This record gives sequence, C-alpha cells and structure tokens, in this order.
Amino acid sequence: MNLYEVHTHLYGCLDEDDLNWLGSRKPPRWEIYKNSFYKLHKAYPNIEFLYQNQIFQTPKLNENQKNILRSYYVFDSSKPKNFLHFQLCFDFIIALSHTDPEELKEIALRVFHKQKEYYSEYRMMFSPKASANEFKEKTLALIEGFKETNKNPSKISKLIISLNREYPNYEWQYQILKEIQKEFPNDILVGIDFAGNEENDSPINKFDFIETVKKDKQFVLLYHVGEILGNKTPASAVRWILWAHQMGVHRIGHAVALAYDETKVANQTYIEHTKERLDHLMFLEQLYEIENQWIPIDYVKQEIERVKNHSQETIEIFYKEKELKLYLDFLNFCVEKLKRSAIIESCPTSNLAISGFSPLPFFEKHQFCVCLGADDPSIFNTSLEKEFQIAKNMVENPSYIEQIKKNNQAFCSMNLLKMIQNKKSIDS
Ligand SMILES: [Zn+2]
Repeated sequence: MNLYEVHTHLYGCLDEDDLNWLGSRKPPRWEIYKNSFYKLHKAYPNIEFLYQNQIFQTPKLNENQKNILRSYYVFDSSKPKNFLHFQLCFDFIIALSHTDPEELKEIALRVFHKQKEYYSEYRMMFSPKASANEFKEKTLALIEGFKETNKNPSKISKLIISLNREYPNYEWQYQILKEIQKEFPNDILVGIDFAGNEENDSPINKFDFIETVKKDKQFVLLYHVGEILGNKTPASAVRWILWAHQMGVHRIGHAVALAYDETKVANQTYIEHTKERLDHLMFLEQLYEIENQWIPIDYVKQEIERVKNHSQETIEIFYKEKELKLYLDFLNFCVEKLKRSAIIESCPTSNLAISGFSPLPFFEKHQFCVCLGADDPSIFNTSLEKEFQIAKNMVENPSYIEQIKKNNQAFCSMNLLKMIQNKKSIDS
C-alpha cells in the first residue's frame, strides 16, 4: 500500500547535503544555535570544528564529513529526553536557513525529490519576526516550489502553514493565507497548524480564531497539543487536548499526555501556574453542573477557595488519594469523549525522544482513531516506513497498524479538506 505522510515538518526532512548547501550559500545565523546550546548545556558549542573539516566549503560531502554534520542535528537518544534537546537539533537547522524565497523554492523541490511516500503534507513555520509582506512572499515561494512537483504525477505533496502561536501573529497570518488563496488559487496549500513549544498556549486562547477558521472552511486545522506536560499537571495537559478537540480542530498532533495513566502519575508532585489550576477546577465545576456527578464537587469547591487565596504564581499538586482519583476519573471522562471522534497524529520515535515513551499502546487499548507521522525524520533518523515498523512492535494486534495506514489516507489534509468543503461530518 502506498504510504501517506500526515505529520512532518519541511525543514525536519533536510539531509546532510541540504544542510551543507544551506550553510554554504549564506553565512549561518550561529547565534540561534549558540543560544539554544547554552540554554541546555550552560556552555557554547564548537562551531569551528565544522569549518576545520571543510563542511560548508565543498559542494559534495564525504561520509566522514556527513557524520560530523549529523552529530550536530541528529537527536542523540543517549542524551536526556526532553523538548529542549530536540529544540537544539532543530535550531541548528534554523541557524543554517534564511527562508528567503529562493531557498524555500529549492528546499521544496529537494524534499519532494527525496519523498518516498505517495503523498506527503509538509508543515512550515516562519519566524514571528517576519513582516506581513515577508510572510506572504515566503508562503508564495513554497507554493511555487511545490507546484513544480505537480508535474510529477507519481506522487503528491501538499503544504501546511504552521502559524505562530503568538497573538496577533496567527490572526494576520491567517488573513494573508486567505488572500493568497483568493489572488493565486492553488491546490497546494491545504491547511494551517499550531506547532512548536506549546508552553503557556492554552487552546482556549484561540477559541474565537478557531471558530472563524471552521466557518471559513478554507483550510484544514491541525493542532499540536499535549506533546509535553511542560509546566502543567497531567490533568491540565489532558484538558487542553479535550478543549482543542471540542473546539473542533480537525486533527490533534501527539496528545501524548493522554497516556499519563496511574502507573506514571501516582504519588508524583506537579507544579503549574496558579491560574492554570484555577482554570482546571472551574472547568470541573462546570462539568459537574452539566450532570457529571462523578466529580467530588465539595473537594473541588474547597480547592477553588484554597487556590484563590494562594498568592504565589505557581502551585504544587500532589497526585495521591483524592487528587489522584479525581485525575484518573477525569482522564477516563476525556478518553471516552475523544476516542469517539478525535483524530490523533502519533509520531512514535519523536515521542520516545522527547517524552521517553510512545502513547501508541494506550491508543490501541482504547481504540483511538490514530494516524502516523515521522515528524522530523532527519532529526530522529527515521522515515514513515520505519515508523510503521516501530509501531508494529508496539501494538498487540497488527490489524491496528493496518487501520492506521488506512486512516493516514482517509484523513490526510487533502481528503479532509474535501470532506469539510462538502459539508459532510468527519465521522460519517
Ligand atoms: Zn510536529
């Protein structure tokens, strides 16, 4: 069966030759990589080593040079598994790139030529510093690059723009994407996404925006959420996933937090913003009022009072006794809601690298509708085909993997968009 790739980032698909090309065409913005490196290691990286080995100074790298280059951006799984470590790898690639129109068009073509899947949709996010004009110009360059690929009928590639999570960037960026579709109609740009560090970006902040996007029916709406716990409790991370789904995003990226079951959370202490804690308790109170009698309302009300009187910015939550039971009941409640209609994109190797485990066995146990993606195949040294192999070893029933392959096709953005525009419900 031809594979459909539904969760991958364009610049996470670049190999050593592409990076060598980037580093040789314009001076890299090393401060990006250096700052990211310092954040993680409290020291600065040895950039000179690349130049001492003639990397970025020769059009064709030998194997030794390729290995040296790889040591900078391929995720080393023997190192601590966390988002900062992944961000460092990605920042190496960002440092080499300038995302000028010429570069973007060339990258689109290079990645398309390497594409092994029959269909792939590539996500791309631009710097929050890009102006409206630059954002438009860059997006058009990518569309143009991928349009060229339309001449090859043996495979399909589509483009998803990951909007900046920062307000008001996503609002004006979305308006520009709509303008582009009007001025330069194309079948390349099929969706929008929210990606990258999700810290402090509760989906509720985007409620009105998501309503607008759904009404317009111009793009598929994808959303990375629950990829990491970050500075939240598992309860808040799970609630964010539920909210994103209830607000109507079409596919959810990762949702790893759903698999924080009893074995992972019992007797753990979590710290989150006091406001996040209050949001959670108020949400539970609302749920109780709409007939969720499983919620211990006296305990919730008592906690609301305690949190309101808590003067510090963050608060500690202990997952034992009442709090643990409340979380597990809440998790069950969310799982029941989500498994019926949510479409989740899972990326096993990426999740293993960043969170230390894959939620796939959990998704199988509860029969979630799952699609699979390689996320950043170059950074994680993987491919979609490999991800399907890895996934097969994680699940009990191989038929679940066959179903995922079908889901990837049925729910790829190109097909989802058709469903949305035909006004059919996704469940039907
Ligand atoms: Zn991703």
